[in-house]
Amino acid sequence: MVRPILRYGAPMLHDVAAPVAPAAVTGPATTALIHDLIETLRDAKGVGLAAPQVGVGQRICIVDVSGGQNPSDLLVLVNPTFEAREGLQLELEGCLSLPGFEATVPRPLRVRVRHLDRDGRERTIEGEGLLARAIQHEVDHLDGVLFIDRLQSISRRLILRKIRQRRTRGTW
Ligand SMILES: [Zn+2]
Repeated sequence: MVRPILRYGAPMLHDVAAPVAPAAVTGPATTALIHDLIETLRDAKGVGLAAPQVGVGQRICIVDVSGGQNPSDLLVLVNPTFEAREGLQLELEGCLSLPGFEATVPRPLRVRVRHLDRDGRERTIEGEGLLARAIQHEVDHLDGVLFIDRLQSISRRLILRKIRQRRTRGTW
């Protein structure tokens, strides 16, 4: 089921999400949630989506740098934690919860992440470039952080002003 994606300002997007009990990962509720996250991401043609973006405060996110073109690129990350982050990349970034906005966000270039997969198995993955960026963007969502929170205050204020204008017009 495709779920509606919350937009900037929805309280759930600004809260820290709760860890998932390992025994619950393969349970019916989490399995259904992961299935819905995948359908919602494919529908939105994005590269990543986190559970809080569909209104669920749990530490689950998915990343697909192929944008749905290559099924083996789909990553399901439950309770992700960074073991290492290094380097620096500066690339344009957007977010399904901030449609219409993009900005250059500084991020580490490479990451190593420990997580549970959708079968509840412990895994460690390494990524760099776009994959590292997408993972960090999604894990930020689990901590209530959006990409504009990582911008310098002048760029952030500019975007927030435009969001307020859209709210006034009823288009946000
Ligand atoms: Zn996002």
